[in-house]
Amino acid sequence: MNFVLDGMLGKLARWLRMMGHDAAYSTALNDDELLATTKKENRVLLTRDLELFQRAIGKGLEAYYVEGLTEAERLAELQRRFSIALTIDLEKSRCPKCNTKLASAPKKKIANKVEKNTLKYYNEFWLCPNCGHIYWQGAHWTKIRATLKEAEENAKKKA
Ligand SMILES: [Zn+2]
Repeated sequence: MNFVLDGMLGKLARWLRMMGHDAAYSTALNDDELLATTKKENRVLLTRDLELFQRAIGKGLEAYYVEGLTEAERLAELQRRFSIALTIDLEKSRCPKCNTKLASAPKKKIANKVEKNTLKYYNEFWLCPNCGHIYWQGAHWTKIRATLKEAEENAKKKA
């Protein structure tokens, strides 16, 4: 799905990108620009700003007012509202930093860009063709999986 998020939802934008969604986000966009992007690019506006949400609905745009305070709560809400899958498949992920689709990168290609130990312990790497950032399922993935699991449990609880 294609989303645009307000300036308060940067973390959520990164999650959605990792989950493979096209999530436009920039702290430089003001409310009018957010509404214009929602309309022009046919996106769903996600916002923590009730007034902005109501303006969007008034204009006939698709918008969702995000209530949850933690990322797990917010992801659970989006699962219930938009049926998004609470999983990350790096084959489908977009770069959390710049929203570009990641490409699987052979070890050879990234060998001089990551630390030796990382290269030794991990076999699968992904590269952002736009910003050059390299991703792999390192130690921090324990935390990512825990958040996804928490979101899954939240989604079930309130269903
Ligand atoms: Zn990138």
